[in-house]
Amino acid sequence: MSKRDYYEVLGVDRNATADEIRKAYRKLARKYHPDVNKEPDAEEKFKEIKEAYEVLSDEQKRAHYDQFGHTDPSGGFGTGGFAGGFDGGFSGGFSGIEDIFDMFFGGTRRNPFAARQGADLEYRIQIDFKDAIYGTSVELQIPKTEACPTCKGSGAKQGSRPETCSVCRGRGQVEEVKNTPWGKIQHSRTCPSCKGEGKVIREKCSTCTGLGKVKRKRKLSVKIPAGIYDGDRLRVRGEGEPGINGGPPGDLIITVFVKPHEVFVRDGYDLVCELPITFGVAALGGEVVVPTLEGKAKLKIPTGTQTGTEFRLRGKGVPRSRGMVGDLRVRVRVVTPTNLNEEQREALRQFSRLCGEYVQNQNNSFFDKMKRAFKVD
Ligand SMILES: [Zn+2]
Ligand SMILES: [Zn+2]
Repeated sequence: MSKRDYYEVLGVDRNATADEIRKAYRKLARKYHPDVNKEPDAEEKFKEIKEAYEVLSDEQKRAHYDQFGHTDPSGGFGTGGFAGGFDGGFSGGFSGIEDIFDMFFGGTRRNPFAARQGADLEYRIQIDFKDAIYGTSVELQIPKTEACPTCKGSGAKQGSRPETCSVCRGRGQVEEVKNTPWGKIQHSRTCPSCKGEGKVIREKCSTCTGLGKVKRKRKLSVKIPAGIYDGDRLRVRGEGEPGINGGPPGDLIITVFVKPHEVFVRDGYDLVCELPITFGVAALGGEVVVPTLEGKAKLKIPTGTQTGTEFRLRGKGVPRSRGMVGDLRVRVRVVTPTNLNEEQREALRQFSRLCGEYVQNQNNSFFDKMKRAFKVD
């Protein structure tokens, strides 16, 4: 009898993730479970689905199947003849179908010898405003776990080796067979003897106390790209925790915080600053000095400039790609003079007399609105 393709059985793509496979299986298993489905071929279908899932949900078996298909040179891994002489008595009855599913999926069925990527490492730094604009490079001291140099990561004392766990025969998992109202159910769980490692260390390495890893501080120089924003995250590939069983290392993820600047605020590629100017300059016009990131620049203030007027200094902002640079936007604030001496006071009094109703005349519409609002003459 020719067997159907396992992927076809579960109705998933060949590139399906473990999650997608699990979901597809759950759905089908519910549909064809002999307890639910009374159609004559339901039981056969359920078996087929279960077998497909047992292979595709196991990284190693799946890789094997992908390579050899059903024509497995080593004799295949049929559902019959469960390996492992583990006889853990199951206590507690089933209260429903969910219990069965929990039993299927409860134990993590991961292969302890499969190569896995190391964990990502998180790191936070704070840089100066100017460094964020122009880019910089920072020296980091990263607390890192590395393979123990004495035992080369095996965890065993020099001259000795870890031994294969006799309970699980190195598989890291033991299998239990349960009798249920629906027949026998195979259930894998982490080996209690080796905690899923598949190996046992008799004599431990003294440097790492058998862990196979040591903590180190590692110096790392990281380039911070120009124009980085406050809170941006950088990923440095391969600088995270070491991989497991020869897997690739994780990444280092750096969150960059930018110190606020005393004068400038960033708005995209523009810099914005507020510039106080005297009443005299605002009224008569003039030239003022404006701070820029590189130093200073001159800015012409036209006659009769109001508070809040914004001036744009082209190319004095944040560099962006292909030589383009944002602008510096200067918002002026006219400062009302305080602490005047008598001479200044007198000059202003005179100025005031000369102006008379000047402001009111210039702003007729505003005062008209006010009069209407308060009904005054
Ligand atoms: Zn060691
Ligand atoms: Zn074991």
